[in-house]
Amino acid sequence: MSFSDLGLSEKVLQAVTTAGYTEPTPIQAQAIPHVLARRDVLGIAQTGTGKTAAFTLPMLTLLETGRARARMPRTLILEPTRELAAQVEESFERYGTNHKLNVALIIGGVSFADQDAKLTRGTDVLIATPGRLLDHFERGKLLLTGVELLVIDEADRMLDMGFIPDIERIVKMVPFTRQTLFFSATMPPEIERLADMFLHTPQRIEVARPSSAATTITQRLVATPGEDHAKRDRLRRLIRAEESLTNGIIFCNRKRDVATLQKSLVSHGFDAVALHGDMDQRARMAALDGFRNGETSLLVASDVAARGLDIPAVSHVFNFDIPRHPEDYVHRIGRTGRAGRSGAAFTLITPDDERSLGAIETLIGQPIPWLDGDLSSLPASDAEPRSRHRGRAGDGRRKASDRGGKEGRERSEGRERSEGRERSEGRERSESRHRSAPRSAAPAAPKPEQSRRDEAPRRSTQRPERDEADHDTPVGLGSHVPAFLLRAPTVKRER
Ligand code: AMP
Repeated sequence: MSFSDLGLSEKVLQAVTTAGYTEPTPIQAQAIPHVLARRDVLGIAQTGTGKTAAFTLPMLTLLETGRARARMPRTLILEPTRELAAQVEESFERYGTNHKLNVALIIGGVSFADQDAKLTRGTDVLIATPGRLLDHFERGKLLLTGVELLVIDEADRMLDMGFIPDIERIVKMVPFTRQTLFFSATMPPEIERLADMFLHTPQRIEVARPSSAATTITQRLVATPGEDHAKRDRLRRLIRAEESLTNGIIFCNRKRDVATLQKSLVSHGFDAVALHGDMDQRARMAALDGFRNGETSLLVASDVAARGLDIPAVSHVFNFDIPRHPEDYVHRIGRTGRAGRSGAAFTLITPDDERSLGAIETLIGQPIPWLDGDLSSLPASDAEPRSRHRGRAGDGRRKASDRGGKEGRERSEGRERSEGRERSEGRERSESRHRSAPRSAAPAAPKPEQSRRDEAPRRSTQRPERDEADHDTPVGLGSHVPAFLLRAPTVKRER
């Protein structure tokens, strides 16, 4: 099967050749002919499968006939996050080099005025996050009655983030006769219901389950005491020991911990940037661009912020926190081992993580080996009070006495900041649409024009970020830290 068999236009085929793609991915091969035939498509595919091009390429072909009218976009793509929306825009730029199409990105954190100007000029492709799209609509600047094709991307993540009521409102505003493409990595009952409601006799296309896509990834569990400073210490030693590391993503469950861990890594001489839901748009884009370009080697991120990001060739994933939802484990480790490349995924496991680990192993249908001894090999004072872990056999390469648990115990001062663990990132993110000030480790950007949805003052219950219990001793620059991880002037690499 080649791209030229799918019915795409010459202009699109040229752009595909320029992008260096030789063969369509399974979702592309299956979806593109149906999209071109104007059928509705239900695509069950996770990010990394090439699903963005599966809708972008045929859309470009379809858009070659017809013209956009002021304030009446011809196609609409809904994305759950700003980053995903920006990536889809990049795809249109990349594959649409031979087209003269107007593409507008309508996301929060960016000035309304610029977005209004684009809409007024007439838009062929409108890529939007639901909240900001509704803001524009309510301001009377947008008409959705000309939409011929609607894409709802990452529907299950929309559900996680509480966007479904917004999506339902938006779908009611587009013509009933439109074509709809609906993508989701998973199909929980609520998503099945929406698919039934939004799609008319769709072609259902399902590509490789995430767990089977992860065969090139070496997964390891790393036993560690539960205190945050001990975890940070273990993480640092892990990173230093990984000679094959070229770049890595470190996942935390809470966005506050993303900021804390990033600062801690930088103070220990690592080259790390943060990506979390409270950073303003410019800071997020800057962090992401630096990481994509290879200027920064480590990206500390939360699930919501990192969802679906197109970051090619990540050598390592570190789960600083074990994910709360087992599916997130699959999404996280799917950041490495892409396109046949090998990758490594390490998950720090504390004595409290037994249940979450069990859920992950059940989902992926296999036990994950331990790097060097399971929880039972932690020093007694770290493991005993909380752990009832039975201790499966790991691939123990070193004895427990050689390992870092001892250092963690010496510094252990009781569980830190446990009171901060109650709020999930997902909830915080949907609430963050009602706050104004970003809480970001990155430099503040000029304040964008505020959305009405963003105008409410920040909740007074928020506490400042503190890290009193972090007694880690910074290492001197150069002590076993690979040179490329250190903050230093870097030459911009070609992507
Ligand atoms: P996506 O699932 O849309 O996030 O795409 C994942 C990655 O695959 C992106 O970096 C794309 O540039 C790349 N990609 C998409 N289609 C192809 C293809 N047919 N051949 C090789 N790479 C592709």
